[in-house]
This record gives sequence, C-alpha cells and structure tokens, in this order.
Amino acid sequence: MPLDPGRTVTELRELRELTGDENGAERVAWTDTWTRAKGWLESKLAGLGLDKTVDAAGNEWYTLRGDSDRAVLLGGHIDSVPSGGWLDGCLNVMAAVEVVRRIAAEGRPPVTIRLVNWADEEGARFGRSLFGSSAACGSMTDQDELRRLSDAEGNALPDVLAAHGVDLDRATEAQRELESAAAYLELHIEQGPVLESMGLPLGVVIGTYGVERHRVIWRGQAAHAGSTPMDQRRDALAGAAKLAIQIREIASSVGEGAVCTSGNVVCSPGIVTSVVETADQLLDQRHMERERLARMLELAREAADRFAAEERIDVDWERIWAIEPILFDERLVDLAEDSILEVVGESHRLPSGPLHDAAEVSRSGVPTVMLFVQSLRGLSHTKLEDTKPEHLELSVQALDRLATKTIDLVAAA
Ligand SMILES: [Zn+2]
Repeated sequence: MPLDPGRTVTELRELRELTGDENGAERVAWTDTWTRAKGWLESKLAGLGLDKTVDAAGNEWYTLRGDSDRAVLLGGHIDSVPSGGWLDGCLNVMAAVEVVRRIAAEGRPPVTIRLVNWADEEGARFGRSLFGSSAACGSMTDQDELRRLSDAEGNALPDVLAAHGVDLDRATEAQRELESAAAYLELHIEQGPVLESMGLPLGVVIGTYGVERHRVIWRGQAAHAGSTPMDQRRDALAGAAKLAIQIREIASSVGEGAVCTSGNVVCSPGIVTSVVETADQLLDQRHMERERLARMLELAREAADRFAAEERIDVDWERIWAIEPILFDERLVDLAEDSILEVVGESHRLPSGPLHDAAEVSRSGVPTVMLFVQSLRGLSHTKLEDTKPEHLELSVQALDRLATKTIDLVAAA
C-alpha cells in the first residue's frame, strides 16, 4: 500500500463528522465522544497486524514489531478542547496512521514502529495538560494535586479516570513504555502565524521556549489627584508603565527570538481621583536559550530597580512559574529539515510557543523532533482552525520521509 496523503485529509473530515458539531471538535478527554474517536481510530488500524495495548495512564500504543526491539515512535493526541479545531492533535495521529500503513505494507521493518495516541494532552476537563505523556515521561510529580481536581460538574478526577480504566495511583507505571524508545516524531499544526507569513507550508521545530513568569509588585503612596503636586507623587503605576515599555528594548537587545509580555497591571485604589498606590504587574519572558532567558530576566530586574528609584517607589518580584528551554535532538532536526526540503524545497527552523507531548518525551531523554505545518491565520482551539488540504498532504509526505530517515538512523546505530 503506497502512501496516500489524500486519504489522511479524507479521514480527518470523517473524524470531524463523527465527533464534532456546529461549534467544532468535541473530543474532550475522558468523555464518551473521546471514547468514540478512539474506537474509530482502532477501526482504521485494523488488519495491519499491529498489537494494541493501553498503558497505565490511558495512552494507546499500536505496535508493529520489527527485527529490533528499539522503537521509533510516531505520536499525537486525538483529544481536543471543547469546540476545538479539526486538526490539533488528530492530524498528528492520522498522518502517523498513514505512515504506519505504508511501512506495514512493505513487510517487517528493521526496527519496531509504535504509534502512540496520548491521553488528555489538552487538559480541557480538569485543567491539567499533557496527562498521558507526563505520566509516561516521568514528569508527573503532582499526583496529590491531581487527586483533588474535579471538573465543572464536581466529578473528581480519580473517579472519572477509573471509569475509563485508569488508576491514578498507577499512572506513572506508563514509564516502562519508553524503555525501548529510540526516537519520537510528531507532526502538528503550527498554531501561530510564522509559516504563513513566510509563505512556507512546513517548518522544523527546534524545541520549546524556556519561560520565566513573574508578578512584579510596585508600591507607592495613594494621594489626592487634585492636591498633590506632580513632583511630590510616589506613583506605583509609573514604575509598571516604564517597565512595560522597557521590555521591548530588553527583548530586542537580547535578540534571537526573545519575547517579553506585560500581560496585565492591576492598580489600587484604582479610582480616578487618586495616585496609584500599588500596581500588580504580570510579566512573561521567553527564550530558546537558557543564558539569554536569564539575561533577559536580569535586565528587567535592573530596569525595575532603576525605575523604582526614579519614582521613589518600591518594587518586589514573585516568581509564578518557570520552565527551562527544551531543545529537540540535533540529528533529528537535521533529518526533519532534509525531509521538508525533499518535499517542498524550502524549510524554516522555529521554536514552539505552546508545549506539546513532544516536549515531555524530549525531556525524558528520548531523541525527539516535531514538524509544523502552516496554520491559516495562526488560529487554533477554535472551529476556525484550518490548514490548506494541499499543505496537509505535504505534511504527511514530510512525516513519511522523516520516518524513513529515522528508521535508517536507528537501525544503523
Ligand atoms: Zn495539540
């Protein structure tokens, strides 16, 4: 059976009919619609001689045995957010289905091929993303917090998981699935505007951003708007405002794709007749390089101290969340680029803003790479999410080339 990329587009439309409504895709994990989607996936893979297993975290594994136990993994997630798009997650799965069909038709491969459908990538029902992949990749350390989570109707997470055959206490036993993994490949829609703005169908993802998130708290003095002369004010908002502008300068001086965002400032007392006493500012900084990310934070802190002195106010920092940059495997990045060049003649390397299952797999030490296919208008997590069918077909071809190159690499090792 030769590769038939058009079939992937047809099947994605079929899945949309089966599991969507007028608002978009409704394959929220741990629901009946998700179960229906998984049954449909199984029917698509029937007859190919694959072993199907479900691990302790609810991830589904379809295995094509090869001469070697060392496995090349192709993955995605068939779950969606409520009223989601028709491609996020399931493109990865269905493109992998097509690639596995092609490989299976050619007889026993030199290495084992495994298609994984990760459980609950989106975290839409309980607010915890990357459930299945974090359990399998050894980064699920929050089981006590997970035990206390419930959905909007008050159903407890452990009960809902149990109804789907998953025991939360045993979920991390899924780690044994990665023991034989030699490489992990994932195709995903970009969910951003970069490839479209460059006129390119496909790109190679070099990794996921490191992130520093802080709350910057400025403290001045409330004072009457009419009776306080301008030179005697201690205006907390002035510090926040200066920093909100200065981060543009900081991002451009650090360079190499640096991004900084002041996402909100909450002022108090927050009335028209008073100088601002406290300004509670949110700052998000991202970079692909650890050193530059640290430099960006240091520059923001220095600037904040300077502005506090100028405005005679105080400033404090609280870290909200941070994650290190995760860089994908250099050899696989090269192979991914070669694959794209063979299919469309031009490629681009870009980081991923959103986290993906691939980031978890990479963090666990399995060589990993992702391909991005262009998203129209950069939209996702909405029924407006779309990609041109011809680009979807090219993306299946590129994933197929990448799988072949990766199998050769692993077989030769
Ligand atoms: Zn996704």
